[in-house]
Amino acid sequence: MSRIVYVIACGALAVAILSGLAQGQQAPPFATTKVDGTDNVYIFRYGGGQAMFIVTSAGVIATDPIGYGRPQAVTTYLEEIKKITSQPIRYVIYSHHHFDHIAGGKPFKDAGATFVSHRRAKDRLAVLKDPHTVLPDETFDDKRTIRLGNTTLDLTYMGLNHSDSTIVMTLPREKIIFTVDTVPVGGFLGRGMIDSYPLEWEEFLKKLTAMDWERLIPGHPGAGGRLGTKQDAQDVLGLLQHASAEVKVAAQEGKCWDGVEREMKLPKYASWPGYEAGLPFVLRRFCGLWGRGT
Ligand SMILES: [Zn+2]
Repeated sequence: MSRIVYVIACGALAVAILSGLAQGQQAPPFATTKVDGTDNVYIFRYGGGQAMFIVTSAGVIATDPIGYGRPQAVTTYLEEIKKITSQPIRYVIYSHHHFDHIAGGKPFKDAGATFVSHRRAKDRLAVLKDPHTVLPDETFDDKRTIRLGNTTLDLTYMGLNHSDSTIVMTLPREKIIFTVDTVPVGGFLGRGMIDSYPLEWEEFLKKLTAMDWERLIPGHPGAGGRLGTKQDAQDVLGLLQHASAEVKVAAQEGKCWDGVEREMKLPKYASWPGYEAGLPFVLRRFCGLWGRGT
């Protein structure tokens, strides 16, 4: 597979990376970027997925291994960290339980890292026994703070949203958050709707917007590779509310599943990257909610 095809296959949002490049250039398969204005906060991107890591004076805090179906991503992730520091990797924090973000962590485990997740992520993983996904060593329910070297990282669970195990990782000093699949930066929603909780997701976004932060690192690169803002969170809230209201009317007229899935469009969002590919997932999820009660 060519690099371009591979990146596109990783998700509709990845197309946005390409749109940020001059015509004729190819997105490199991976990249490690220090976040502007920080001393030690990095983004590791591989294909269409990305994770945050923080280098401290007492070791590295890594997040999602992003190695589903591609163990090379994890090997590369470790190599990229080693280019920056000889400090040991002390933690791997899971953003949520979805394998596209957390599979492949064994090399981090072998390097001695302690794996941390929300309790529900571990509960699910313990049942599924995915051979490629490391079980968390430690879990929490509402909040946990990781202090390492000169860094404080707050882990917060704010209820159901894109999944039932998604947390928000906050660097209070830097006013940066890392939250995965809850705010697609500059793009439409898509496959991530499948097992989501749309009504609770709206409440989550309101709480997220009320928190003290300025920049959001997403789990898939934002449009043009940019970071997210509170405006992006509000835009996604608006999208969820709009789609929900539109489907609700049709659902209560008995038009779910087929009528809505065949005919409904959301023209207000037609220009958003990922709209065509994502619309069926959005409509199906809201038909599930308003046409079925789920
Ligand atoms: Zn997810």
